[in-house]
Amino acid sequence: MNILVFAESQHGAIKKSGLEAVTYAARTASQHQGTVTCLVAGVDENVASGLGAYGAHKVLKMESHPDALGLSDALSEAIAATQARLVVLAYDALGRHLAPRLSARLGAALISGASGLPEIQGDTLRVRKSVFSGKAFATLECSTPIKILAFSPNTLAPEKKEGTAEVVSFSPATRNSRIRVIKTEEKQGEVALPDAEIVVSAGRGLKGPENWGIVEDLAHALNAATACSRPVADIGWRPHHEHVGQTGLTVRPNLYIAIGISGAIQHLAGVNQSKVIVVINKDPEAPFFKAADYGIVGDAFEVVPRITEAVKKLKAGA
Ligand SMILES: Cc1cc2nc3c(=O)[nH]c(=O)nc-3n(C[C@H](O)[C@H](O)[C@H](O)COP(=O)(O)OP(=O)(O)OC[C@H]3O[C@@H](n4cnc5c(N)ncnc54)[C@H](O)[C@@H]3O)c2cc1C
Repeated sequence: MNILVFAESQHGAIKKSGLEAVTYAARTASQHQGTVTCLVAGVDENVASGLGAYGAHKVLKMESHPDALGLSDALSEAIAATQARLVVLAYDALGRHLAPRLSARLGAALISGASGLPEIQGDTLRVRKSVFSGKAFATLECSTPIKILAFSPNTLAPEKKEGTAEVVSFSPATRNSRIRVIKTEEKQGEVALPDAEIVVSAGRGLKGPENWGIVEDLAHALNAATACSRPVADIGWRPHHEHVGQTGLTVRPNLYIAIGISGAIQHLAGVNQSKVIVVINKDPEAPFFKAADYGIVGDAFEVVPRITEAVKKLKAGA
């Protein structure tokens, strides 16, 4: 089976969700004797060929990064060129625009938010996704000739091995965007939560938004992103885009530090894939300790500044 995967880039590098997409496609291909062709835009030859280490056999490289309309044109042309029967992409902000456009245009079944690898038998593809805010799993099936799988970001970790991919320049006919971008403002000095290797997260135990300085200081010292529990975003202490859990973002960092968060199952649903979990809570019975690799029983207002100081000292001595 030929698989076409779209890997989004930013500032000349493939985004983490793009690397996940290539890994997802490569694992699917290895289970079903497939080949993986990757469409990228706005990266140089080295970055493109480097996708071979994540399992791409061939990379179609476009010069500039069009928006979802132009990308749907490019992907349609790439599907025709590669005879792809399965298209894989991340169900992130761009994927949410791109996948339905492509589905409508090609008459292809779209399964969005897939949370596992697909099983493919003959013309039928079957995959699991979580539904009703994570309360249940549904297994969906489709059998159109071309299928589109948009998986949930952080479903799996990007897997880097050895190898390079053949890179081919690709210049599809793309329509001009119907949206004119007037201005783009990018936040400086902040680590994007979905891509962060370290996340410092806090909950209602912090008592109020005025106390978030200790969380931000620790995040800054560790070059980490900040996150929060849902009630904290609901009451407006922190912005909603920081809310992690069943109804928020799913994160999969190397280190997740949870401060004053009880560890309700709905919170854990979005963070329990983290490699190492550190919990700081004054209640030794807090459920989060059961999911923690390291736990500190103590008052966040005493413990967190001491950790920040220790990190700063360590960095200064390094
Ligand atoms: C359908 C549904 C979906 C949901 N989705 C989500 C979701 O996506 N994400 C999410 O987070 N929640 C979600 N929730 C809410 C979830 O059930 C919990 O209510 C929520 O996670 C609790 O947030 P919290 O831990 O910040 O607050 P609390 O439960 O109030 O816990 C605060 C913790 O801080 C500790 N603490 C207090 N003071 C200190 C201190 N000085 N130092 C150290 N520790 C201290 C306490 O011991 C306590 O453990 C959902 C609920 C439902 C019903």
